[in-house]
Amino acid sequence: MTDTLNQAIDDQIPALIGLAQDLIRIPTLNPPGRNYRDICDYLAARLMAQGWTVELIRAIGAPGDSDAFPRWNMVARITSGRPGDCVHFNSHHDVVEVGHGWTRDPFGGELEGDRLYGRGACDMKGGLAASIIAAEAFLATTPDWRGAIEISATADEESGGYGGVAYLAERGHFAPDRVQHVIIPEPLHKDRICLGHRGVWWAEVETHGRIAHGSMPFLGDSAIRHMGAVLEEIEHHLYPLLATRTTAMPVVPPQARQSTLNINSIHGGEPEPPPGSTALPAPCVADRCRIVLDRRFLIEEAIDEVKSELRAVLDRVQSRRPGFTYTIRDLFEVQPVMTDRDAPVVRSTAAAIERVLGQVADYVVSPGTYDQKHIDRIGRLHNCIAYGPGLLHLAHQPDEWVGVQDMADSAKVMALVLRDLLG
Ligand SMILES: [Zn+2]
Repeated sequence: MTDTLNQAIDDQIPALIGLAQDLIRIPTLNPPGRNYRDICDYLAARLMAQGWTVELIRAIGAPGDSDAFPRWNMVARITSGRPGDCVHFNSHHDVVEVGHGWTRDPFGGELEGDRLYGRGACDMKGGLAASIIAAEAFLATTPDWRGAIEISATADEESGGYGGVAYLAERGHFAPDRVQHVIIPEPLHKDRICLGHRGVWWAEVETHGRIAHGSMPFLGDSAIRHMGAVLEEIEHHLYPLLATRTTAMPVVPPQARQSTLNINSIHGGEPEPPPGSTALPAPCVADRCRIVLDRRFLIEEAIDEVKSELRAVLDRVQSRRPGFTYTIRDLFEVQPVMTDRDAPVVRSTAAAIERVLGQVADYVVSPGTYDQKHIDRIGRLHNCIAYGPGLLHLAHQPDEWVGVQDMADSAKVMALVLRDLLG
C-alpha cells in the first residue's frame, strides 16, 4: 500500500513542480497584501475541478483589510461520506518583500537541478504544493477512505495572521468538532516535526524627564539618563537571569533554548532630522525616552511573571534614582504552545517520517511564532504541528529556494499520515 502511494507521488513530481511554480509566480507580497484573491482563485479552480467544496473568505475588518488590498482566504474541503476524522493542511499564501541580493527572478519560479527558486518557494508555497499533491495522491489511491480533508491557504501569517488563520479560527473553522488534526507545512524540513513555539511579549517602556536648555541641564531632568540606568539594570541583572532559565522545549537553534530579550528600538529626545537635512540639532534636555522590548518566553514561564519581572527591574531603578518615573505599554503577546508528543498527528507523522526517510523524526520548537498560536488559543485545537519541506534559514532570504526531492519526500510523509488517520 505504501508503495502505491509513494509511486503515485513520484509520478506527480512534474505536477508538483508545476504547481509550486504557478504559486510562486503569483506575487502575494505582504505588505501590502497583493494578489491574495488571485492565488485563492487559482487554488479554488484546481481543487473544485476535483470535487472539493471551496469557500473564499475575505477577512473584512481585519488589520490591513481594504478594498485595495482585501484579505482573501481559501478553505477547501472534501468528504468521503464515511464517518471519520478531518485532517486539515493550513498554509499561508503571503510572502515577505523581495529585498536586495537576488540573482534570480524572485517571481519566475526558476528550476535549476533540484532547486526551485523564488520568493516564497521555501516559506511556504513549496509546502502548500506538497500538501495538495499529497492529498490528491491519497484520494487517487484510497477509494474507501474515511472522514474529511481540508486544505486552506490563508492571508497575513507574515504579519500576525489576524486576516488569516485568526479570522477563520474566530469563526469556528478550527473548532474541535470540525477539524481534529492540523498540519502546517512551514519549512521546518522533511525530517523534523515542529511541536510549537515560544511565547512573545512586546512592550514599550518610557522614562519621563523635564525639558530644559541643553547648556543648563541641571534645570531639567534627562529621560535618556534615566533610560541609561534602566538599560544598565537590564544588562547586569536581567540578562544573566534570563540566561539561567532552561526549558523542556526542544527549540532550534539551541541558543534559543532559554528566555531571550531583544531591545528592538530606542528613541529619546527631539525627533531625528529628516534624511538629507543639514540643520543642526537644538540643545534640549530629553523629556522622554522610549524603548521597545521583544521578550520571548518559555512554556515554563507564566506571562504575568514575565511582566512583573520587568516591572521589578524598573522599580529597583526607581528606588535609587530621585525623580525617576516610567510607564509600560503592552504592544503584543502570544502564549507559548507545545503539542504533546503523544498527540495523534505527532505520532502519525513521526511514523511516516521513519517509513519514508528511514530515519527517526526530530522534534523541534520554533523560536518565533506562527499560525499555530491561533489554532491553539482561538480554535482550542491542540493536535497541531508544523511539518513541511524547505530549510528554515532560507526563508525571507535572497535566492530563496526549495528542493524538489524535499517537496516530494514531505508529500509522501503527508500522504502516509492521511493513510494512517483516514485510510
Ligand atoms: Zn511561513
